[in-house]
Amino acid sequence: MSVQWFPGHMAKARRQIEEKLKLIDLVIELLDARIPLASRNPMIDQILKNKPRLVLLNKADLADPEVTARWVEAFAQDGLSALPIDASSGKEVAQIVPKSKERLKEKREAQLRKGINPRAMRALIVGIPNVGKSTLINRMAGRSIAATGDRPGVTKAQAWIKVGTEMELLDTPGILWPKFEDEQVGIRLAATGAIKDEILNVEDIAFHTTKYLLEHYPDMLKERYDLDELPTVEQLEEPDQVVAVMEAVGRRRGCLQAGGMVNLEKASQALLRDLRSGRLGRISFETP
Ligand code: GDP
Repeated sequence: MSVQWFPGHMAKARRQIEEKLKLIDLVIELLDARIPLASRNPMIDQILKNKPRLVLLNKADLADPEVTARWVEAFAQDGLSALPIDASSGKEVAQIVPKSKERLKEKREAQLRKGINPRAMRALIVGIPNVGKSTLINRMAGRSIAATGDRPGVTKAQAWIKVGTEMELLDTPGILWPKFEDEQVGIRLAATGAIKDEILNVEDIAFHTTKYLLEHYPDMLKERYDLDELPTVEQLEEPDQVVAVMEAVGRRRGCLQAGGMVNLEKASQALLRDLRSGRLGRISFETP
């Protein structure tokens, strides 16, 4: 998971997907349910043109279910069918074939009218690194196909994976770059583990994440780390107040250094680990 996106890489990624589009009936666009905006490729509409599309909001197990439901509605208003799933446990994955069929209904009905028996739908999974493409492919295949984790630059012969009798999936997903709009988007990508911690400073990521959690999910922080008092909304504007919470987290997690001081780097890593593993609770970083 170490893709550094430069213009040349983006052009190549786009070309690779455009080549594959010729082979398929449907695109399965995989987004992170916690950050459907930041995890969405900024050029996706131009790249996919009018290919029928199914949006999957993956890692829904880690996202705030109420917020995810609002995202499903927002996508529906844009004419896109979005399905929350959890590729690692397989939750809702069985819905992908029927939902895809629905997306291709008109074409299939037209074929049937002409007396053509529609062949299995051919689909391509696309998404940014670490969104869960390999996990989903393995889940749909019912066996281990690709090594999980992203392997840019490694090419191999393309093959179709049968998903039941009605769908065939390209075994290599399309890898796309995320949004890089501004620092806030970068923080969200880093907080959820979509980009490596080394790209941004881990204490900065944890600082902004703690601030966000204090604003939106204070009870989760309080419960998880047994904190007695949290800063008020006004106090959050003072960086020291946020850092004090990070230090309290560090003390609870035993991230101390010589002299009993909190090691803020270790505290930051512990907080992000708890967040990414879901131990803090189900948290969304973007709302429609
Ligand atoms: P890819 O780079 O898009 O192929 O992503 P991977 O399939 O390698 O997944 C990246 C990481 O996300 C792995 O650690 C997976 O176990 C994890 N992951 C994938 N799907 C889910 C999911 O639905 N829920 C959770 N909690 N983790 C997931």
